[in-house]
Amino acid sequence: EDLGHLEHGRVVSRFGQHADILTASGEILRCNIRRTVASLVTGDRVAWRRAGEEEQGLQGVVEAVEDRASVLCRPDQYDGIKPIAANVDQIFIVSSSQPAFSDQIIDRYLVACEDAGIDAIIVMNKVDLITPEEADVIESRLRVYEAIGYPVIRVSAHTGAGIEALRSRFPNHISVFVGQSGVGKSSLIKALLPDIDLAIGAISDNSGLGQHTTTVARWYALEQAGALLDSPGIREFGLWHIDPERVAYCFKDFRAYLGTCKFRDCKHGTDPGCAIQAAVAEGKLDGKRLENYHRIVKEHA
Ligand code: GDP
Ligand code: ZN
Repeated sequence: EDLGHLEHGRVVSRFGQHADILTASGEILRCNIRRTVASLVTGDRVAWRRAGEEEQGLQGVVEAVEDRASVLCRPDQYDGIKPIAANVDQIFIVSSSQPAFSDQIIDRYLVACEDAGIDAIIVMNKVDLITPEEADVIESRLRVYEAIGYPVIRVSAHTGAGIEALRSRFPNHISVFVGQSGVGKSSLIKALLPDIDLAIGAISDNSGLGQHTTTVARWYALEQAGALLDSPGIREFGLWHIDPERVAYCFKDFRAYLGTCKFRDCKHGTDPGCAIQAAVAEGKLDGKRLENYHRIVKEHA
């Protein structure tokens, strides 16, 4: 038998029973996926081998998938919760002043990032549009996030301000951009990847299974071993269902207080002896964060 050795590779795209694999030497090969491989999405690390005689037209076979360090999911009307990208290790939460800045939306994304175990970085885009009056309010909110420990990068995709600081975050990471429609995700990706035609994700899908490409993420190779994943599915990343206790844990600044409420099932509302309420009253925790916590519990639990 003429089977190749098992090699390591990375899934850059998946179409039905086929996947494009980025090899250790930087080639991209279209491969068959063994039926024993239960789930395979962009970002997965795989064991694959070059095709034998029986794999007509395909260059290799994916034999196994390695454990995922993280997985981004989205709700699917048929399959419940569906994975869309694996091994993402940082999420850029993009905001702007137009559409309006919203700490509720940021907190919702932060909870989703914490829940997925992925580092979050806040990107304040369109700084060229922020008026002096807006700046005070927005800056005071951004400082809350910085105090909690989330990095904040202020940028403009239009003027190029802050783009180098943003770019320096990408080497050796697998990143995604999330945020409301219109905040400038596409513009930032273009600013970071001016040569987008050369990006690996631009490889066309000629499998005839085009509908799969809208749910699977694209892999854009960046300099110095970085990659950016993007797709409409990834942009839908967020919260659907999450337990109230888990929400509280995912408010990273609340964590230190969680064991110390008087009642074990404290809702952190009007309950007596609530350590979170007390910390807000003492100015140790931000009151707006607690409001957003209650909103998220109401909407998603
Ligand atoms: P997306 O929906 O998040 O991908 O947002 P887009 O990248 O499509 O941007 C939405 C609109 O905002 C477009 O008209 C962009 O030209 C504009 N835009 C994006 N970034 C900036 C920026 O830094 N400054 C200004 N003034 N406009 C921007
Ligand atoms: Zn409490």
